[in-house]
Amino acid sequence: MTAKILDGKALAQKLRADFKRRAERLTAQGARPGLAVILAGGDPASRIYVRNKVDACEQTGIRSEKHVYPAGAEQSALLDRIAELNADPAIHGILVQLPLPGNCDAGTILGAIAPEKDVDGFRAENVGALMLGSPRFIPCTPRGVMKFFEEADIALEGKEAVVVGRSNIVGKPMAMLLMRAGATVTVCHSRTRDLRAHCRRAEILVAAVGKPKMITGDMIRPGAVVIDVGINRLADGKLCGDVDFAPAREIAAFITPVPGGVGPMTITMLLANTLESAERAAGSGR
Ligand code: NDP
Repeated sequence: MTAKILDGKALAQKLRADFKRRAERLTAQGARPGLAVILAGGDPASRIYVRNKVDACEQTGIRSEKHVYPAGAEQSALLDRIAELNADPAIHGILVQLPLPGNCDAGTILGAIAPEKDVDGFRAENVGALMLGSPRFIPCTPRGVMKFFEEADIALEGKEAVVVGRSNIVGKPMAMLLMRAGATVTVCHSRTRDLRAHCRRAEILVAAVGKPKMITGDMIRPGAVVIDVGINRLADGKLCGDVDFAPAREIAAFITPVPGGVGPMTITMLLANTLESAERAAGSGR
Protein backbone atom coordinates (compact mmCIF):
# COMPACT_ATOMS: atom_id res chain seq x y z
CA MET A 1 0.00 0.00 0.00
CA THR A 2 1.26 3.47 -0.81
CA ALA A 3 -0.30 6.08 1.43
CA LYS A 4 -2.30 9.01 0.17
CA ILE A 5 -0.53 12.25 0.95
CA LEU A 6 -2.46 14.69 3.11
CA ASP A 7 -1.31 17.88 1.41
CA GLY A 8 -1.25 20.72 3.92
CA LYS A 9 -0.29 23.33 1.36
CA ALA A 10 -3.26 22.57 -0.88
CA LEU A 11 -5.73 22.41 2.00
CA ALA A 12 -4.35 25.64 3.46
CA GLN A 13 -4.78 27.37 0.12
CA LYS A 14 -8.37 26.22 -0.19
CA LEU A 15 -9.28 27.37 3.33
CA ARG A 16 -7.49 30.68 2.97
CA ALA A 17 -9.55 31.57 -0.11
CA ASP A 18 -12.67 31.40 2.08
CA PHE A 19 -10.95 33.33 4.89
CA LYS A 20 -10.08 36.09 2.44
CA ARG A 21 -13.73 36.55 1.54
CA ARG A 22 -14.67 36.69 5.22
CA ALA A 23 -11.90 39.19 5.97
CA GLU A 24 -13.09 41.36 3.08
CA ARG A 25 -16.63 41.26 4.42
CA LEU A 26 -15.48 42.43 7.84
CA THR A 27 -13.27 45.11 6.31
CA ALA A 28 -16.23 46.40 4.30
CA GLN A 29 -18.13 46.73 7.62
CA GLY A 30 -15.23 48.77 9.04
CA ALA A 31 -14.13 45.88 11.24
CA ARG A 32 -10.95 44.64 9.53
CA PRO A 33 -9.46 41.69 11.47
CA GLY A 34 -6.15 42.46 13.16
CA LEU A 35 -3.40 40.28 14.62
CA ALA A 36 -0.49 41.51 16.75
CA VAL A 37 2.63 39.35 16.92
CA ILE A 38 5.24 39.86 19.61
CA LEU A 39 8.74 38.62 18.91
CA ALA A 40 11.37 38.88 21.64
CA GLY A 41 14.97 37.74 21.24
CA GLY A 42 16.83 36.84 18.11
CA ASP A 43 15.95 33.16 17.66
CA PRO A 44 16.36 32.64 13.87
CA ALA A 45 13.61 30.00 13.60
CA SER A 46 11.19 32.29 15.49
CA ARG A 47 11.93 35.11 13.07
CA ILE A 48 11.05 32.87 10.13
CA TYR A 49 7.83 31.67 11.83
CA VAL A 50 6.81 35.27 12.56
CA ARG A 51 7.56 36.36 9.01
CA ASN A 52 5.46 33.49 7.65
CA LYS A 53 2.56 34.39 9.95
CA VAL A 54 2.70 38.08 9.00
CA ASP A 55 2.87 37.19 5.28
CA ALA A 56 -0.09 34.82 5.63
CA CYS A 57 -2.13 37.60 7.26
CA GLU A 58 -1.24 39.97 4.47
CA GLN A 59 -2.34 37.51 1.79
CA THR A 60 -5.64 36.91 3.56
CA GLY A 61 -6.56 40.55 4.15
CA ILE A 62 -5.94 40.40 7.91
CA ARG A 63 -4.07 43.42 9.22
CA SER A 64 -0.98 42.41 11.17
CA GLU A 65 1.50 44.29 13.29
CA LYS A 66 4.84 43.04 14.53
CA HIS A 67 6.32 44.15 17.84
CA VAL A 68 9.98 43.20 18.03
CA TYR A 69 12.09 43.26 21.22
CA PRO A 70 15.79 42.52 21.70
CA ALA A 71 16.91 39.48 23.72
CA GLY A 72 17.57 41.63 26.80
CA ALA A 73 14.15 43.33 26.80
CA GLU A 74 12.50 43.81 30.19
CA GLN A 75 9.50 41.60 30.89
CA SER A 76 7.62 44.73 31.99
CA ALA A 77 8.01 46.22 28.48
CA LEU A 78 6.30 43.18 26.98
CA LEU A 79 3.56 43.27 29.62
CA ASP A 80 2.93 46.97 28.94
CA ARG A 81 2.64 46.27 25.22
CA ILE A 82 0.22 43.40 25.81
CA ALA A 83 -1.93 45.67 28.01
CA GLU A 84 -2.09 48.22 25.17
CA LEU A 85 -2.99 45.55 22.64
CA ASN A 86 -5.65 44.09 24.95
CA ALA A 87 -7.32 47.51 24.97
CA ASP A 88 -6.98 48.13 21.21
CA PRO A 89 -10.31 47.40 19.42
CA ALA A 90 -8.50 47.00 16.08
CA ILE A 91 -6.61 43.98 17.43
CA HIS A 92 -8.51 40.68 17.63
CA GLY A 93 -5.62 38.33 18.24
CA ILE A 94 -2.34 38.58 20.16
CA LEU A 95 0.38 36.05 19.63
CA VAL A 96 3.62 35.85 21.56
CA GLN A 97 6.18 33.82 19.64
CA LEU A 98 7.84 31.20 21.81
CA PRO A 99 10.48 30.59 23.06
CA LEU A 100 10.93 33.82 25.01
CA PRO A 101 14.35 35.02 26.24
CA GLY A 102 15.45 33.61 29.61
CA ASN A 103 14.56 36.71 31.64
CA CYS A 104 10.89 36.52 30.57
CA ASP A 105 8.50 34.08 32.18
CA ALA A 106 6.30 32.56 29.47
CA GLY A 107 3.48 31.80 31.94
CA THR A 108 3.32 35.42 33.10
CA ILE A 109 3.52 36.84 29.57
CA LEU A 110 0.96 34.49 28.04
CA GLY A 111 -1.26 34.91 31.09
CA ALA A 112 -1.41 38.66 30.42
CA ILE A 113 -3.15 38.24 27.05
CA ALA A 114 -6.89 38.90 27.24
CA PRO A 115 -8.62 35.49 26.95
CA GLU A 116 -10.81 36.78 24.09
CA LYS A 117 -7.65 37.68 22.08
CA ASP A 118 -5.66 34.54 22.92
CA VAL A 119 -5.67 33.16 19.38
CA ASP A 120 -3.10 30.49 20.28
CA GLY A 121 -5.49 29.13 22.88
CA PHE A 122 -2.76 28.84 25.52
CA ARG A 123 -4.44 30.68 28.40
CA ALA A 124 -5.84 28.59 31.25
CA GLU A 125 -9.40 29.84 30.53
CA ASN A 126 -9.16 28.67 26.94
CA VAL A 127 -7.49 25.37 27.81
CA GLY A 128 -10.29 24.80 30.34
CA ALA A 129 -13.00 25.68 27.83
CA LEU A 130 -11.55 23.14 25.39
CA MET A 131 -11.43 20.53 28.13
CA LEU A 132 -15.06 21.21 29.07
CA GLY A 133 -16.17 20.87 25.47
CA SER A 134 -17.02 24.47 24.54
CA PRO A 135 -13.76 25.85 23.16
CA ARG A 136 -13.27 29.51 22.27
CA PHE A 137 -9.85 29.13 20.63
CA ILE A 138 -8.48 25.69 19.75
CA PRO A 139 -4.65 25.65 19.63
CA CYS A 140 -3.63 26.05 16.00
CA THR A 141 -1.60 22.88 15.37
CA PRO A 142 -4.11 20.33 16.69
CA ARG A 143 -6.95 22.27 15.08
CA GLY A 144 -5.09 22.03 11.77
CA VAL A 145 -4.66 18.28 12.23
CA MET A 146 -8.40 17.87 12.79
CA LYS A 147 -9.01 19.69 9.48
CA PHE A 148 -7.06 16.96 7.67
CA PHE A 149 -9.40 14.30 9.06
CA GLU A 150 -12.43 16.38 8.09
CA GLU A 151 -11.17 17.07 4.57
CA ALA A 152 -10.18 13.46 3.83
CA ASP A 153 -13.37 12.13 5.43
CA ILE A 154 -11.45 10.07 7.96
CA ALA A 155 -13.84 8.84 10.65
CA LEU A 156 -12.48 9.01 14.18
CA GLU A 157 -15.29 7.51 16.22
CA GLY A 158 -14.23 4.29 17.92
CA LYS A 159 -10.74 4.46 16.43
CA GLU A 160 -7.55 3.67 18.34
CA ALA A 161 -5.59 6.94 18.34
CA VAL A 162 -2.08 7.32 19.69
CA VAL A 163 -0.51 10.73 20.27
CA VAL A 164 3.24 10.72 20.85
CA GLY A 165 4.12 13.85 22.85
CA ARG A 166 2.28 15.51 25.73
CA SER A 167 3.13 19.20 25.37
CA ASN A 168 0.59 21.85 26.25
CA ILE A 169 0.62 23.26 22.73
CA VAL A 170 0.37 20.06 20.68
CA GLY A 171 0.11 16.70 22.44
CA LYS A 172 -2.44 17.45 25.17
CA PRO A 173 -4.93 19.48 23.10
CA MET A 174 -4.54 16.96 20.25
CA ALA A 175 -5.51 14.13 22.60
CA MET A 176 -8.46 16.15 23.87
CA LEU A 177 -9.77 16.82 20.35
CA LEU A 178 -9.41 13.20 19.30
CA MET A 179 -11.23 12.12 22.45
CA ARG A 180 -14.03 14.60 21.77
CA ALA A 181 -14.32 13.13 18.29
CA GLY A 182 -14.93 9.70 19.76
CA ALA A 183 -11.50 8.10 19.40
CA THR A 184 -9.94 5.99 22.14
CA VAL A 185 -6.77 7.91 22.88
CA THR A 186 -3.41 6.87 24.26
CA VAL A 187 -0.83 9.56 24.99
CA CYS A 188 2.83 8.48 24.88
CA HIS A 189 5.84 10.45 26.11
CA SER A 190 9.46 10.08 27.10
CA ARG A 191 8.58 7.78 30.01
CA THR A 192 6.40 5.42 27.95
CA ARG A 193 7.72 1.90 28.33
CA ASP A 194 7.03 0.29 24.98
CA LEU A 195 6.43 3.04 22.44
CA ARG A 196 6.57 0.65 19.52
CA ALA A 197 3.77 -1.54 20.89
CA HIS A 198 1.51 1.48 21.43
CA CYS A 199 2.21 2.90 17.96
CA ARG A 200 1.62 -0.48 16.30
CA ARG A 201 -1.94 -0.44 17.66
CA ALA A 202 -2.71 3.02 16.32
CA GLU A 203 -5.25 3.48 13.57
CA ILE A 204 -4.58 7.21 13.96
CA LEU A 205 -0.98 8.05 14.88
CA VAL A 206 0.08 11.62 15.67
CA ALA A 207 3.80 12.19 16.25
CA ALA A 208 4.71 15.44 18.04
CA VAL A 209 8.10 14.86 19.60
CA GLY A 210 10.87 16.75 17.80
CA LYS A 211 13.16 13.78 17.07
CA PRO A 212 14.00 13.17 13.42
CA LYS A 213 12.59 9.92 11.99
CA MET A 214 12.05 8.36 15.41
CA ILE A 215 8.81 6.69 14.25
CA THR A 216 10.16 3.95 12.02
CA GLY A 217 8.22 1.89 9.51
CA ASP A 218 7.97 -1.11 11.83
CA MET A 219 6.12 1.04 14.40
CA ILE A 220 3.24 1.74 12.02
CA ARG A 221 0.09 -0.32 11.76
CA PRO A 222 -0.77 -1.19 8.17
CA GLY A 223 -3.47 1.15 6.91
CA ALA A 224 -2.94 3.74 9.67
CA VAL A 225 -3.42 7.49 9.30
CA VAL A 226 -0.05 9.03 10.16
CA ILE A 227 0.18 12.70 11.12
CA ASP A 228 3.70 14.03 11.49
CA VAL A 229 3.80 17.25 13.50
CA GLY A 230 7.57 17.22 14.09
CA ILE A 231 9.81 19.73 12.39
CA ASN A 232 13.49 18.86 12.60
CA ARG A 233 16.42 20.36 10.76
CA LEU A 234 19.03 17.83 9.62
CA ALA A 235 22.78 18.48 9.38
CA ASP A 236 22.42 19.08 5.61
CA GLY A 237 19.90 21.87 6.31
CA LYS A 238 16.88 19.88 5.10
CA LEU A 239 13.72 19.61 7.16
CA CYS A 240 12.29 16.30 8.24
CA GLY A 241 9.55 15.11 10.55
CA ASP A 242 9.40 12.69 13.46
CA VAL A 243 8.30 9.91 11.10
CA ASP A 244 10.64 8.05 8.77
CA PHE A 245 8.59 9.09 5.76
CA ALA A 246 9.74 6.74 2.95
CA PRO A 247 9.06 3.39 4.71
CA ALA A 248 6.01 4.79 6.55
CA ARG A 249 4.45 5.82 3.27
CA GLU A 250 4.48 2.21 2.09
CA ILE A 251 2.58 1.01 5.16
CA ALA A 252 0.13 3.79 6.08
CA ALA A 253 -3.13 4.64 4.30
CA PHE A 254 -2.68 8.40 4.76
CA ILE A 255 0.38 10.42 5.73
CA THR A 256 1.37 14.06 6.07
CA PRO A 257 4.71 15.11 4.56
CA VAL A 258 7.28 17.39 6.21
CA PRO A 259 7.50 20.08 5.00
CA GLY A 260 4.10 20.79 3.44
CA GLY A 261 1.89 18.90 5.90
CA VAL A 262 0.95 20.15 9.34
CA GLY A 263 3.08 23.34 9.15
CA PRO A 264 0.94 25.27 6.63
CA MET A 265 -2.19 24.18 8.49
CA THR A 266 -0.91 25.59 11.79
CA ILE A 267 -0.57 29.05 10.28
CA THR A 268 -3.92 28.67 8.54
CA MET A 269 -5.64 27.93 11.86
CA LEU A 270 -4.03 31.03 13.35
CA LEU A 271 -5.79 32.96 10.59
CA ALA A 272 -9.03 31.10 11.36
CA ASN A 273 -8.82 31.92 15.06
CA THR A 274 -8.08 35.59 14.36
CA LEU A 275 -10.92 35.84 11.88
CA GLU A 276 -13.40 34.17 14.22
CA SER A 277 -12.29 36.50 17.01
CA ALA A 278 -12.91 39.52 14.75
CA GLU A 279 -16.29 38.12 13.72
CA ARG A 280 -17.25 37.66 17.36
CA ALA A 281 -16.14 41.22 18.17
CA ALA A 282 -18.16 42.56 15.24
CA GLY A 283 -21.11 40.42 16.30
CA SER A 284 -21.31 38.97 12.81
CA GLY A 285 -20.75 35.28 13.56
CA ARG A 286 -20.08 33.77 10.12
P1 NDP B 1 7.92 19.55 23.27
O1 NDP B 1 9.41 19.42 23.32
O2 NDP B 1 7.24 20.52 24.14
O3 NDP B 1 7.30 18.11 23.59
C1 NDP B 1 7.86 16.95 23.07
C2 NDP B 1 7.15 15.75 23.63
O4 NDP B 1 7.78 14.58 23.11
C3 NDP B 1 7.22 15.65 25.16
O5 NDP B 1 5.95 15.35 25.68
C4 NDP B 1 8.20 14.52 25.40
O6 NDP B 1 7.91 13.74 26.55
C5 NDP B 1 7.99 13.66 24.17
N1 NDP B 1 9.16 12.83 23.91
C6 NDP B 1 10.46 13.19 23.91
N2 NDP B 1 11.24 12.13 23.64
C7 NDP B 1 10.42 11.08 23.48
C8 NDP B 1 10.62 9.72 23.20
N3 NDP B 1 11.84 9.22 23.01
N4 NDP B 1 9.54 8.92 23.11
C9 NDP B 1 8.30 9.41 23.28
N5 NDP B 1 8.03 10.71 23.55
C10 NDP B 1 9.08 11.51 23.66
O7 NDP B 1 7.58 19.76 21.76
P2 NDP B 1 6.27 20.38 21.03
O8 NDP B 1 5.08 19.60 21.38
O9 NDP B 1 6.26 21.84 21.17
O10 NDP B 1 6.67 20.08 19.51
C11 NDP B 1 6.89 18.77 19.04
C12 NDP B 1 7.43 18.83 17.63
O11 NDP B 1 6.47 19.43 16.80
C13 NDP B 1 8.69 19.67 17.44
O12 NDP B 1 9.47 19.10 16.41
C14 NDP B 1 8.16 21.02 16.99
O13 NDP B 1 9.10 21.73 16.22
C15 NDP B 1 7.01 20.57 16.14
N6 NDP B 1 5.95 21.55 16.00
C16 NDP B 1 5.46 21.70 14.76
C17 NDP B 1 4.43 22.54 14.52
C18 NDP B 1 3.89 22.63 13.14
O14 NDP B 1 3.21 23.58 12.83
N7 NDP B 1 4.14 21.64 12.28
C19 NDP B 1 3.85 23.37 15.58
C20 NDP B 1 4.37 23.08 16.89
C21 NDP B 1 5.41 22.20 17.07
P3 NDP B 1 8.02 14.32 28.05
O15 NDP B 1 6.81 15.16 28.24
O16 NDP B 1 8.03 13.10 28.88
O17 NDP B 1 9.29 15.09 28.10
